Amino acid sequence: MAGWTSSGAVASDTEPQLVDRGAKPSGTVVEVRGVQIGGRTVDLDSSPCAVESAEQLLATATAVRDSGAAILRGGAFKPRTSPYSFQGLKEEGLELLAWVRRETGMPVVTEVMDTRKVEEVSAHADMLQVGSRHMHSYPLLEEVGRSGMPVLLKRGMSATLDEFLFAAEYVLKQGNERVVLCERGIRTFEQSTRNTLDLNAVPMLKRRTHLPVIVDPSHGTGHWWMVPCLSRAAVAVGADGLLVEVHPDPDNALSDGPQSLKPERFDVMMQELRPVAIAVGREISAPRH
Ligand code: PEP
Ligand code: MN
Repeated sequence: MAGWTSSGAVASDTEPQLVDRGAKPSGTVVEVRGVQIGGRTVDLDSSPCAVESAEQLLATATAVRDSGAAILRGGAFKPRTSPYSFQGLKEEGLELLAWVRRETGMPVVTEVMDTRKVEEVSAHADMLQVGSRHMHSYPLLEEVGRSGMPVLLKRGMSATLDEFLFAAEYVLKQGNERVVLCERGIRTFEQSTRNTLDLNAVPMLKRRTHLPVIVDPSHGTGHWWMVPCLSRAAVAVGADGLLVEVHPDPDNALSDGPQSLKPERFDVMMQELRPVAIAVGREISAPRH
């Protein structure tokens, strides 16, 4: 089937065009306030799942930064399955993220769920996350595309890689090429893990698209104790970065405690990742301590 591109040219509507590796064989490096995703260094985005308080956010941010994480990721607007679960601190959470960014110097990424909030979230963050539940929200994809902000696009929990690439295509079609794809696990018949982390997606996406690809083993497994080994596997298979949830007190976390690493375990994980990165021609940022 043929369709019209923004330039008026006729294009196939069965193949993504702008995200295609052939459009940029050398690969795209997405820069987020000085941090490069898609280069030689494996990028570490880390944070509690949700911003809960100034103390919790600052404690986690300084710990993960000192272990070598480059980007702070914290949820202010939380997409929760139950409307009775903690929904995030919302606007107050955005203010806390902007504050901790000033305190630590770390760029910040946070989720936006609503087209009407893109401007406000963009004013407080350095990168916009479009979560798994919103990967198919085409007006939202267009709006984050128009914002020109870097976008962290998570794979829908039941999305094929074609659907994932087309979602990214919506953003690029607005003239915004600053998109990072995140594999975060898909729904399968398996019940012992929260999702099935589809590491096949990494080499397949790297072959098909020039966009950087990162992996989220926290949502991909749902178990904190699986996160370090799946992180090593993700780096070994060619991921450009990792998104890992860390919480100073996982037992009392308001969201995703069971899959959150304590800062001390995150630090050990970073040390364990370094030789794996070197083995595949990459590197992990050095710790500050
Ligand atoms: C999250 O990153 O905390 C989150 C809600 O992830 P996902 O959209 O992958 O479920
Ligand atoms: Mn989470």
